[in-house]
Amino acid sequence: MANDIFCRIIKGEVPSSVVYEDDDVIAILDISQTTRGHTLVIPKEHYDSFLSCPKDLMQKVYAVAQRIGQAEVSVLGAKGVNILTNVGEQAGQSVPHFHVHVIPRYTGGEGGFQITMKGQDTSAMDLPRLAFDIKKGIK
Ligand code: 5GP
Repeated sequence: MANDIFCRIIKGEVPSSVVYEDDDVIAILDISQTTRGHTLVIPKEHYDSFLSCPKDLMQKVYAVAQRIGQAEVSVLGAKGVNILTNVGEQAGQSVPHFHVHVIPRYTGGEGGFQITMKGQDTSAMDLPRLAFDIKKGIK
């Protein structure tokens, strides 16, 4: 049985800043904030990656990702959003549990498509407040 870090977060064994939760899906702030509000949308049932996730559940995950992207624009003032999933170590997947990154992009950031997800210092960020703000904006 899988016991990766997201399984442990879902079981409540490891704390996280929860942005959204229903019976099938949880969304949490990424511990390494590529930009302010970087969120991970994760199915509660374990599948190694996007490619092995059943279609119905995959669609639920992406439906939540869309709503969070909308909230990042309306609440956080993002001007754009990257929505992406890495499949396999060679593609940069470091946690072998399907998840979708929802990364807000702001004015003044580097323009254009970026696949770099280098983290930034989060010590000055109020992550619970950030999660609360996004949660408020989810329709
Ligand atoms: P991947 O590299 O697999 O596409 O993305 C995995 C993401 O999970 C990374 O961006 C990483 O920062 C994030 N991550 C790893 N461990 C934790 C954790 O314990 N808590 C949270 N909230 N995010 C994590």
